[in-house]
Amino acid sequence: MAADIRSILKKLETGGDPSLDDIVALLQAPNDTLLFTAADATRERYLGSQVHLRGIIEFSNHCTKNCLYCGLRKDNRRLQRYRMSTDEILAAAKEGAAAGLRTIILQSGEDSFFTGEMLAWLITRIKERHDVAVTMSVGDRTKGDYRLMRKAGADRYLLKQETSAPELISRLRPGTALAGRIKRLRWLKELGFQVGSGCMVGLPGQDVETLADDIMLMRELDVEMAGIGPFIPHPDTPLSNAKGGEVAATLRVLAVTRLVLPHIHLPATTALGSIHSEGREMALRCGANVVMPDITPVQYKKLYEIYPNKICINEEGPAHCVPCISGIIFRSGRSVGTGYGHSAAQSIEEQK
Ligand code: SAH
Ligand code: SF4
Repeated sequence: MAADIRSILKKLETGGDPSLDDIVALLQAPNDTLLFTAADATRERYLGSQVHLRGIIEFSNHCTKNCLYCGLRKDNRRLQRYRMSTDEILAAAKEGAAAGLRTIILQSGEDSFFTGEMLAWLITRIKERHDVAVTMSVGDRTKGDYRLMRKAGADRYLLKQETSAPELISRLRPGTALAGRIKRLRWLKELGFQVGSGCMVGLPGQDVETLADDIMLMRELDVEMAGIGPFIPHPDTPLSNAKGGEVAATLRVLAVTRLVLPHIHLPATTALGSIHSEGREMALRCGANVVMPDITPVQYKKLYEIYPNKICINEEGPAHCVPCISGIIFRSGRSVGTGYGHSAAQSIEEQK
């Protein structure tokens, strides 16, 4: 078995195409050390030692969707809802930029209160005031809305496939089909966004083949980023009694994704840091090269409860978060990225 793993690793190292069986074998590799060491070496070879920080502003927890896994789902009546004002959003972006962040992510539930035009207005203001890249993560929208955001200057869009199993996604995200999510990821590419997808690990009904399909789908879609974190059951959702994703399994999916998509950005997710105190540090050693500090104002942070026990919700703004996370990166023997941290292809384009 270890010999098989070594030959698959060799094939990937020399630019060979993995089969689905290869990915399944890697995900089931008996020796984590072999896998993690290879992923870490691949990250170093393709992306170097810099870790990019992306400051995330969770500007609304209103959501029209009813995803079975998520605490923001429409039917969760226990959650106190909020929407940040445009002034509050711009002030948060300003604080983030002042703390040295070079990417601002605007994320929310699926909240139609914020029209495409409003989001475009916010993007324009942020881009004209600060030297930052902007990532949007506001869910399923029309192509027209995506176009408005792109024209306003948004650089990236994060829309996770969540799971590549068609029947599972339709069950877990009522009203959504995998085809619709894929169609949107293709639109976003076509519009010139750097595209992020990703999946949760440990969803009920998911198995190792599903996860291999997830990685293969991201390779087919040629994504520039993949957010991979454990599913964490939320008490006020229909999946409250589910088991949830484990640290080891999440690290393995992360490492295999790094090996199969060597050039992409992979965050050490907050979700992984929330189920293990060293989760993000471990992820940085298994292929991750991005961390996403939460720079939402502290009074709103705790209300953006996608899953319970989220870390850092009492941290008061980027002036605290950025030095703290930079310390984690430094202690991991790495350095904090000083540029925008664009996709590899985009960075080459800029140097021309
Ligand atoms: N509404 C947008 C963006 C916000 S949700 C969207 O759905 O695309 C951001 C991410 O939170 C989702 O992509 C999902 O992967 C993650 N998430 C939701 N519930 C979660 C849970 N219980 N555990 C871990 N991650 C979760
Ligand atoms: Fe809404 Fe996104 Fe949560 Fe689904 S995952 S309920 S779309 S915030």
